[in-house]
Amino acid sequence: MSAPIAYFYPEGHSAHSQPNHPERPKRVEVIRQALEQAGLWQLGPQLPGEPLAADVLAAVHSQEMLQAIQQHAAEQRNLDADTYTTRHSWPLAQNAAAGAVAVARAVWRGEAQTGFALSRPPGHHATRSQPMGFCLLNNVALAAQHLLQHEGATRLAILDMDVHHGNGTQDIFYERADVLFCNTQQLPLWPGTGRVEERGHGPGLGFTANLPLPPGSGDAAFAHAYGELFPALLDDFKPEMLLVSFGFDSHWKDPLANLQVSAAGYGRAIASLRQWAQQHCGGRIALVLEGGYDLDAAAACGLAAVQALLGQEITDAVGPSPYAEGEEWKPVMDKARSLFLVS
Ligand SMILES: [Zn+2]
Repeated sequence: MSAPIAYFYPEGHSAHSQPNHPERPKRVEVIRQALEQAGLWQLGPQLPGEPLAADVLAAVHSQEMLQAIQQHAAEQRNLDADTYTTRHSWPLAQNAAAGAVAVARAVWRGEAQTGFALSRPPGHHATRSQPMGFCLLNNVALAAQHLLQHEGATRLAILDMDVHHGNGTQDIFYERADVLFCNTQQLPLWPGTGRVEERGHGPGLGFTANLPLPPGSGDAAFAHAYGELFPALLDDFKPEMLLVSFGFDSHWKDPLANLQVSAAGYGRAIASLRQWAQQHCGGRIALVLEGGYDLDAAAACGLAAVQALLGQEITDAVGPSPYAEGEEWKPVMDKARSLFLVS
């Protein structure tokens, strides 16, 4: 009997924090509380992190980077202007990634029907050789690499809903054909990458798909991206499992960005991906937490996401954006469609 959902909760994660930094422990706690109050947290086992395999770690990150994180954490120094460490950050970063691996593996093996790793610190900005943007180890990339290297997976898709471009995940898989990386991000916005022309290199050409959205794009753009554009790419690629980089900072309340997506919009996007997974890859889909800095949005998006994963009706305690949605995203969508869907 497989569990309806498997969770990872990062025990002890509050020891990775810095006063007044937006990437704070409360982000995870409010998601967990919202799921507990809705009775959904109780549905799943909380998996412990699987110790990271050395060959998986080496395939994703450089030795120099791993040493740099450990050295900075030992001295409690920032890795860059935004990316802090504490003396607990190295084991906590390893555990965050290990939790993403454990959840992905449970869903891959059919031990759980779906999964959500509340990994923290987040991961999708960490490149092969550089921690950045609040991210130390790339949790979702390590989960994918583990399935490829140790579980017999051959083709996986990562879909990144965080409002910031998943530059780290893109960097790690940019020249590879075994991971399809689909991204929505606000542009212009830090880190500045993620243009529609960035499509992979060498054997990886065509296996990176970026949809940069102008500020104010909102739910309609998200619905097109995750309900139409990316499913068409998934139809071609035929991944064996979907991994979602679930950052909720595309939400309209987020203080760092302006994409104006609602929690219901997130839920519908995940419901579309779940539907694709049910039709084409045995329902295998799992979420790994990334960014998102408004606590009301955290609770609402976390709940909507899990409702969608479970096939339940989606609720939205925060409601739709009070700002008018723009339509400037439509030409970008047309350009992406013409570039990605040549057939
Ligand atoms: Zn973000």
